[in-house]
This record gives sequence, C-alpha cells and structure tokens, in this order.
Amino acid sequence: ALSAARSRPDRVARYSGRLPADGTLTPHLMSELPAALASDQIVLHYQPQVAVDTGQVIGVEALVRWQHPVHGLLPPAAFIPAAERTGLIRPITRAVLDRALAYAADLHADGRRLAVSVNLSVRDLLDAQFPQEVEQALARHGVDRSLLELEVTESMAMVDPNRSLRVLHDLAELGVRLSVDDYGTGYSSLAYLQRLPVQRLKIDRSFVMGMVHDSASVAIVRSTVELARNLGLTVVAEGVEDDATLLALRDMGCAVAQGFGLGRPVPADRLLDVVDAIERR
Ligand code: C2E
Ligand code: CA
Ligand code: CA
Ligand code: CA
Repeated sequence: ALSAARSRPDRVARYSGRLPADGTLTPHLMSELPAALASDQIVLHYQPQVAVDTGQVIGVEALVRWQHPVHGLLPPAAFIPAAERTGLIRPITRAVLDRALAYAADLHADGRRLAVSVNLSVRDLLDAQFPQEVEQALARHGVDRSLLELEVTESMAMVDPNRSLRVLHDLAELGVRLSVDDYGTGYSSLAYLQRLPVQRLKIDRSFVMGMVHDSASVAIVRSTVELARNLGLTVVAEGVEDDATLLALRDMGCAVAQGFGLGRPVPADRLLDVVDAIERR
C-alpha cells in the first residue's frame, strides 16, 4: 500500500490506518525519520487542560505528529515506538521540548500564562544529561520553569528504577512539574509511586471513558482521586468526552480535565480559538 501511494505522489495522501499501529514502520519509512525531523515534518498539536471548578484553560499538552508528504498526518503510534527502539526518540524529545517551550514563550508574550506538558520516553529518563538539556531549553526560551510539565508513565520509570529516579529527582530540583501519565495501567506498587517526585497523576483515559457505562470505572476514578488527595497530588482526568463525565469528575473533586469533549488536539495556530470556545462554555 505504501509503495502504491509513493508511486502517485500527485495524490494527496491521508493516513490510511494501514501503517502498523505498533510502530513497526517499514524500514524505508523509518529511514526517512531523521530527515523528517531535520525538515520540520515533525510537528506538534496541543490539547487544552481545563480547571474543572472554574472552566479556565490552565495548560496544554504537546502531542507529536509526523506531517508526511506522501502518507499524510501520522499519529505518534505510527513512529514513536520505532523511534524508541532506534534511539531517535532522544532528538525527537529535544525537538518537541524546544518547540513546546518556544510556543509557551509566545503564549506568555500574548498574556496567556499556560503551562505546557511534554511526554518523555524511557531513553530520556535513562540519560543523566537530560535534566541539563531541559534547563538549557528553559533558559533559551526564557520560560518560567514552573510552566513546564514533564509526563512519564509508571512503567517507563520501572525499566531501571534507580537510574530513572535520579533523573526524576534532578528534574524535580530544577523546579519543573512532573506527572505520572496513564495512571492505573502500570503495575507499580503504591510504595513505588510514593517514591516518585511527582506533583500530578493523570488518570488513564480508559477509566475516564468507561465512567458513563461502567460502575467499576467510576469506582476506580473515585478512589484514584481520593488516593491522590491523600498523597497531596493533583489529579488530571484524560479522555473526558462528555458533560456527564465532567460533572461526575467535578463532584469527585478532580481538579483538571482533558479530552475531546472539551477540546481536541489542534495545531498552535488554532489553539486560542479552542481555548476561547472552552472558556465561553
Ligand atoms: P498520551 O500521553 O496518553 O496522550 C493523550 C492521547 O489521548 C492523545 O493521543 C490524545 O489525542 C488522546 N485523547 C485526548 N483526549 C481524548 C479523548 O477524549 N478521547 C480519546 N479517545 N482520546 C483522547 P495521541 O496524540 O495519538 O498520542 C498518543 C500517545 O503518543 C500519547 O499518549 C503519548 O504516549 C505518545 N506521544 C504523543 N506525543 C509524544 C511525544 O512528543 N513524545 C513521546 N515520547 N510520546 C508522545
Ligand atoms: Ca501524556
Ligand atoms: Ca495519558
Ligand atoms: Ca501514553
């Protein structure tokens, strides 16, 4: 299918969903990734994070895409896992961090003090140089360190707990915010969670999306909100797709919500329209 698309470059191709979702890119496509990174085909979309009590947008999550000239807009699932295997994820994280901070600085210059969240990978957490890169990027863009959030999953941190804990502590010392992403999908113990120097828990969207039709999901989300409160952590619910879920989250005392029902990820030039629509609700 890929070579057929390639032989007809005049046809505007869109992501067909036929690329393997597990990131096993064809060797050819994988070999294009470094050049894609150098030529600005790796782009960011931003999804708003909303304070549940006030309805204000307080931050955005940067989500990477590959704007491929033939195959269209590729989701992270189509290339991030392969980039993690080959190590290309390190330059990708650096580029994402750089762009996300440049955008945060632009927003700030516009009078919008929005935090920006960036997703990390295992290799970032295993690299003792990474915290220094973050510090330099913050300085380069003149962004207040408290406005940067770095997201890690429990399972990422468990690949090599001692090494990642050192990196996480160095990052925490910088004054950036750390959050546990996809919370509830890993196998880490509460004892381990308590050792992570994080300020936020992001409840995995599978539980939040299940709330409308599944009482077990409601129970999981409710007890996670309670657990977080007891540990002094802020809870972010991902995957909020409807008002009923948003109201239930508000009643539980969940602080922050993110999801298609509030705003989808959009390119930077459309974000402020999405923010205004959310705040007019
Ligand atoms: P994630 O960090 O859990 O990001 C949230 C994903 O959930 C995004 O998918 C977002 O579009 C989707 N989402 C948000 N709200 C809803 C909703 O209401 N319903 C549903 N069904 N989905 C929702 P996306 O952009 O495809 O990203 C997928 C994953 O790729 C991310 O999951 C993250 O693990 C990874 N990723 C994205 N950007 C980066 C990056 O810059 N670096 C690294 N290492 N990984 C990234
Ligand atoms: Ca995330
Ligand atoms: Ca997540
Ligand atoms: Ca994830």
